[in-house]
Amino acid sequence: MQKHYFIIGAGVAGITAAEQLRRGDAEASITVINGEDYPFYRRLSLSTYLQGQTTLEALTVKQPEDYEALNVTVLQDRVAQIKPNENTLVMASGETHNYDGLIIATGGSAIKPPIPGIDLNGVRLGYWDMKDTLWYEEIAKANNGNDAVVIGGGVLGLELADCFNQAGLKVTIVQLGATLGEPLTDEVSGEILLNRVKESGAECRIGVMAKEILGDENGNVRAVVTSAGEEIPAKAVGICIGIRPNVAFLQDSGIELVNGCIGVDGYLKTNFDNIFAAGDCTWVSSGNMVGYRPNRTWQVATNQGTIAAMNLQGMQHPYDEGLFYNAGVLYDLPYTMLGNFNPDPNDESCQVHTYDTAGDPFAHFKLTVSEGRLVGAMLLGRQRRTNILRKIMEGNFIITGHEHELMDKKFKPKDLPVADIQTAGDADVEAKLAAYASKG
Ligand SMILES: Cc1cc2nc3c(=O)[nH]c(=O)nc-3n(C[C@H](O)[C@H](O)[C@H](O)COP(=O)(O)OP(=O)(O)OC[C@H]3O[C@@H](n4cnc5c(N)ncnc54)[C@H](O)[C@@H]3O)c2cc1C
Repeated sequence: MQKHYFIIGAGVAGITAAEQLRRGDAEASITVINGEDYPFYRRLSLSTYLQGQTTLEALTVKQPEDYEALNVTVLQDRVAQIKPNENTLVMASGETHNYDGLIIATGGSAIKPPIPGIDLNGVRLGYWDMKDTLWYEEIAKANNGNDAVVIGGGVLGLELADCFNQAGLKVTIVQLGATLGEPLTDEVSGEILLNRVKESGAECRIGVMAKEILGDENGNVRAVVTSAGEEIPAKAVGICIGIRPNVAFLQDSGIELVNGCIGVDGYLKTNFDNIFAAGDCTWVSSGNMVGYRPNRTWQVATNQGTIAAMNLQGMQHPYDEGLFYNAGVLYDLPYTMLGNFNPDPNDESCQVHTYDTAGDPFAHFKLTVSEGRLVGAMLLGRQRRTNILRKIMEGNFIITGHEHELMDKKFKPKDLPVADIQTAGDADVEAKLAAYASKG
């Protein structure tokens, strides 16, 4: 009998899941519910559009004809309620749909802080979707040379501040946390970011809160008041203090939530056998992430979409988060974080090594070593040897004696006892290590 699959959310997790479901069943009916007014686009590249480096067309990944080719139906609507015991979706439009299998891939959206004045004209909550991006584009055009404030100095706030800065606005970032770029940064990289922001002409207020947003007599924003009592002028304000998973519509559904996310097992299954979840809305209990959970990245959402779909169709494919990996830009500096990139300073099992940046004041290379193995990397400003470091970590190689050479172009991983360690049994490993050590 033909199966009816529904996927909630047309982001990367949802669309990848739809593609996988089709690969697994040529006959099934597959419906993706798109809660946005735009076809699937590269969310992670929105800033390249704001910075004029790409077009809306180039950001769009799937056009209607692509769905036709996949034989996937797209419904423009939002799910208001799930009734898992009846296998029913209740839509915002009032329609209802029945499913045999369901994947929830609803991603996240901006956290709304209780700041008075948040609804004034010229203030935008969040930088997450196409609507936000087009709004920022318009306000930036209308305010060239004027003041702007970005509330929040995390990844998205910094990205928005860079876009405003490049569009010719005079930007001030108001960051409550102790460093810019938290939670990805340490003290050194936070300082580098701060210097970089200042050098580009933007300003920063660190360790202060936006207390109130002030408007003029026409309801237009005019300033942001901080907890330090400063009034920062602003014709445009963007608020980026964090993302929370889109799970409000699941209240009372019986689908279990964990830490405000959808709780899933090691196969991405919820507490209902025919409901799986994928992407930014999930909390994976079997993850291998260090110090930064949940892992909200494009790649993780893609992998989860594929595996949730495979398992919904009866496979038993365990989801393995693998090595923690996050890459992007902090303000305008590229970064990559791998594994235990920012170990607890009190963790005596970890040694941290920093590396020469050849005089680049906006670069920072830091590696974490534990028990003779490379377990983490933080690369800010310039990306050096990312793939090699990743391979060394994934291969679980012994790097003892080579800690200081790892970032050196001349150093080749083949100098490590790689294949031996990977393929040998424990006793053999000991023998090979001894032989390796004796080679000096
Ligand atoms: C500006 C920006 C820069 C980024 N940069 C990077 C980067 O450099 N590297 C990186 O790895 N990641 C980056 N990300 C994060 C990355 O884009 C996300 O991790 C990824 O898009 C998550 O995919 P998803 O499918 O889980 O959720 P989403 O992409 O959020 O998609 C979920 C979809 O579900 C819809 N939805 C929600 N509720 C409902 C409902 N009830 N009914 C119907 N539809 C609903 C939403 O409207 C949305 O369209 C960035 C994100 C942004 C915004």
